[in-house]
Amino acid sequence: MLDVDVLAQARDLAAKCADAGVWSLPDADLLAVLDTAHALEQLAATVKLHAVREVDARGIPASQHATSATVWLRHRLRVDVDVARRSVELAREVERRPGLDQALASGAVSVAQAQVVATAIGKLPDRLTPDLVDAAEAVMLGWAQDFEPKAMRQLSTGLLAYVAPELADETDRRAIERDEKRALQTRAFTLSNQGDGRYRVSGWLDAEAAATVTAALDPLCRPSGDERTPTQRRADALVDVCEFALGTERLPDNGGDRPQVVVTVPFDVVRDELGVGQLDSGDRLSPEQVRKLACDARIVPMVLGGDGQVLDVGQARRLFTGPLRRALVARDGGCGFPGCDRPARWCHGHHIKAWTAGGATALDNAALLCGHHHRVIHQGEWEVRMAADGRPEFIPPAYLDPERRPRRNTFTLRR
Ligand SMILES: [Zn+2]
Ligand SMILES: [Zn+2]
Repeated sequence: MLDVDVLAQARDLAAKCADAGVWSLPDADLLAVLDTAHALEQLAATVKLHAVREVDARGIPASQHATSATVWLRHRLRVDVDVARRSVELAREVERRPGLDQALASGAVSVAQAQVVATAIGKLPDRLTPDLVDAAEAVMLGWAQDFEPKAMRQLSTGLLAYVAPELADETDRRAIERDEKRALQTRAFTLSNQGDGRYRVSGWLDAEAAATVTAALDPLCRPSGDERTPTQRRADALVDVCEFALGTERLPDNGGDRPQVVVTVPFDVVRDELGVGQLDSGDRLSPEQVRKLACDARIVPMVLGGDGQVLDVGQARRLFTGPLRRALVARDGGCGFPGCDRPARWCHGHHIKAWTAGGATALDNAALLCGHHHRVIHQGEWEVRMAADGRPEFIPPAYLDPERRPRRNTFTLRR
């Protein structure tokens, strides 16, 4: 039986200690103070747990019109509700588990460690026999001698494997199956128009689908001598893979038509100028964007004259395909942009003089560029031109090189 007077004396002694300074202590004593105060704190907390357990068991909170032991404790001790809840839960668990109670009372575990033990025991499967539960508790109490609560919590995820390996395998398998089922049911992909020229991509994939997407995107996400952020590179890679798929001609037909992106562009014949383009979706594209699309094999520009008649929906003259594409690949090897190592299969044929401005679809008007550098060139800071040796060369913007000396992709030339 706990003597209240003894506990009160202990409190008074502790109060005296709390009042005394530690600045004059030699190192060894100072460290002993630290260890002893910690042990005392844990023991006091254990006494408190025993009291909480008894208050709860006697129904004192209900008799004082509290809705629960947690609410009662919160008001009585003026502690946060989650602190009160953890106390009540641990007090109940300690009553059920004499081994844990003993470990607390002897100072072998701290209250925070006991909480981790109780949580881990609570997560064990119901069909575990009592001696296996005791064995699991003993394993955790052993960890308490060496590890802080956080490390114990991490170790406890493998607790079942320590005491019942076959059960652990089965439980693991069930957990995996449950997760897979949920992942399959909740799979989703949405592209939503934000109305400001941006689309938001969001969704969920299961592990296998995510691995497929990662395997396709990863090789395209490597930095290739550019200033894009990792997330910008992943966004470009997603588009690259889709362009690649459109280019294989192996996608299922879309009502008889090959799947493709169509952009309609008004052409001002008088001013010899492209207007703002429009995609099937109704989204509008700037003339620069349209000029880039006109280089590319997977996009069909439909150019309208002033009175709306279709001037060009064709591809034959516009695209670098067949023998022309093979000749371009043989000459440039891969993306021609300085410092880029993207191979030819990921590259677009770019018209050095824009096709929409009358540039020919011919080897001497072509440069091979990856999706990213194709965008860079069409943004206009860098320029590409045909050099005297019949190969394209790239002129950096003045802020990179005030003299704007042409550069070549030494990586490609080495091949
Ligand atoms: Zn282009
Ligand atoms: Zn490139």
